Amino acid sequence: MNIILLGPPGAGKGTQAQRLQAERGMVQLSTGDMLRAAVAAGTPVGLKAKAVMDAGQLVSDDIMIALISDRLEQPDAKGGVIFDGFPRTTAQAEALDAMLAEKGLKLDSVVELTVDENALVERVTGRFSCAKCGAGYHDRFKQTRVAGVCDACGSTEFKRRPDDNEATVRQRMAEYHEKTAPISNYYADKGLLKRIDGMADMDKVHADLAAILNAG
Ligand code: ADP
Ligand code: AMP
Repeated sequence: MNIILLGPPGAGKGTQAQRLQAERGMVQLSTGDMLRAAVAAGTPVGLKAKAVMDAGQLVSDDIMIALISDRLEQPDAKGGVIFDGFPRTTAQAEALDAMLAEKGLKLDSVVELTVDENALVERVTGRFSCAKCGAGYHDRFKQTRVAGVCDACGSTEFKRRPDDNEATVRQRMAEYHEKTAPISNYYADKGLLKRIDGMADMDKVHADLAAILNAG
């Protein structure tokens, strides 16, 4: 089963994708994570993407489509993927359709997490993750069970994203409205779009998502 999680920055896409990955063996394909890995490794893509990401803008369609196309060639992608952060433009959505068709893969559902925009700045600026295993947390909404220790792997090292500051979040939200929100209609027209309440607590969002996947 292949699904797309849609929603603005901080909607909860990564949180839900990590959980589906752990529970169902689906693979989370986060283009943001892939770009951050490229930045950390200093690859040509990373060198191009860094300033764009720090400014809260979108990396070019050409780069993103090539990145996802390569990733879908890896064998684990055949067992079901969760697209998290991709597609973000109509051009990316069209390219994804073509790629999936070419690889004999199909899209089962596109789930949009709807959120109150006023909540997003707090969600994003309070976000942190384990530096070792990547498990996601929040200063207020998802603290570690033991202070300073990752629940998942026991590491005591955490990190925050350089773009998770208020000014950049607002720019990312503007990009979302202008370039990404229109793709909801693209998938609604294909009969694939479902919406769930992303303001509910994380367990409820997960249950709503699981119900959609189990039905499909
Ligand atoms: P996205 O991947 O859509 O940008 P995340 O999954 O990283 O969003 O969530 C952003 C922050 O909000 C994280 O710190 C996460 O712990 C927290 N969060 C996610 N879902 C919820 C929720 N339903 N209620 C409250 N906080 C949430
Ligand atoms: P995310 O981790 O999804 O919040 O993405 C972080 C940043 O990476 C975004 O603000 C963009 O600069 C860039 N990015 C991630 N995915 C895409 C994409 N599909 N298209 C363009 N830019 C992207």
